[in-house]
Amino acid sequence: MTCIQCGSKEIVKNGSIHNGKQKFMCKECGRQFVENPQTS
Ligand SMILES: [Zn+2]
Repeated sequence: MTCIQCGSKEIVKNGSIHNGKQKFMCKECGRQFVENPQTS
C-alpha cells in the first residue's frame, strides 16, 4: 500500500483504531490513515 497523501511506500504500522482496523503512518509526510477507509 502507499500513502494516500504523498504516494510514498514508507508506511509503518501505528496501532489500531476503535473498530480494530490497522492504522498506519507515512514516514515521509507524517500522514496517518487506516487501511481500506470507508467514508459511508
Ligand atoms: Zn505520505
